[in-house]
Amino acid sequence: MNNILEVKNLQIGFNLSDGYRQAVYDVCFDLKKGETLAIVGESGCGKTISTMSVLQLLPENAVIKSGEILYNGENLLNFTQKQMQKIRGKKIALIPQDPMTSLNPLYTIGNQILEVIELHQGIKGKQAFDLAVQALERVKIPDAKEKMKSYPHEFSGGMKQRVIIAMALACNAEIIIADEPTTALDVTVQAQIMDILKEVKEKYNLSLILITHDMGIVAQNADKIAVMYAGRIVEYSSVSSLFKNPKHPYTKALLNVILDINTDKVETIEGQPPSITDDICGCPFHPRCKSCMEICKKITPSLKTVEDSLVACHLYE
Ligand code: SF4
Repeated sequence: MNNILEVKNLQIGFNLSDGYRQAVYDVCFDLKKGETLAIVGESGCGKTISTMSVLQLLPENAVIKSGEILYNGENLLNFTQKQMQKIRGKKIALIPQDPMTSLNPLYTIGNQILEVIELHQGIKGKQAFDLAVQALERVKIPDAKEKMKSYPHEFSGGMKQRVIIAMALACNAEIIIADEPTTALDVTVQAQIMDILKEVKEKYNLSLILITHDMGIVAQNADKIAVMYAGRIVEYSSVSSLFKNPKHPYTKALLNVILDINTDKVETIEGQPPSITDDICGCPFHPRCKSCMEICKKITPSLKTVEDSLVACHLYE
């Protein structure tokens, strides 16, 4: 099956007060129609920057040094802002961590969905209204017709996230990027939102990029996984093979966090990930790695095929 999205050798950095600092190193991943790719790692590992570059929604001081972002074979990095406006929301939709960054508190839910339908599909009036109500019903918002008149502050966090998903459906988006979509919600609502996302993804054959630090969400929802550390992909694998046989010491540490939560013993990963301003020599995980060898302190490992995964670790050389 062809890839709907292919990110190749992406290098991204930031112009900081003390000069340019690289944040994302040679990141590659792909996504097929109907597939869910999870991108996992601790805060600051580069997962959000790598995926926001797909939508060209990067901070002003960010610089994409090189790479390609192929959407249906076309490199989005060559697109103008005007061309990107036709991609964002319409073809590739974003579900952010905080839905209030996408919803305007001053307009009703209905007005906001009608606006995206008009903008992306050119449909107005009764037809647009019916489409908006249908989209709200698809994400299980009760009394959808009535709720069109509500303002965002009248909705709970989970209901607001449903509205954002409804907007993506109303525009017939092909890819949804969900950036920690359930972080701000309580556990029961988290499960409901993930169920809705999974259901609409399967029903409409959407592709999903799920950015998360929660391996439990990954296990239940994703087909494949890219584990990121210090701006690099350190393990790239199918979810089944990663959970059966994790290879990179960082992946194993991430899995231990969740496994130990299940037995009520929480083993966190000791130490902190490096920041963008740290000078890294060798494997970026070496100060925290229990399997660190001399070579790890000097040479940065590159991704290599190990069985059915890609792994960046000297243990496998
Ligand atoms: Fe640990 Fe070395 Fe592998 Fe890095 S390369 S993860 S330090 S064993």
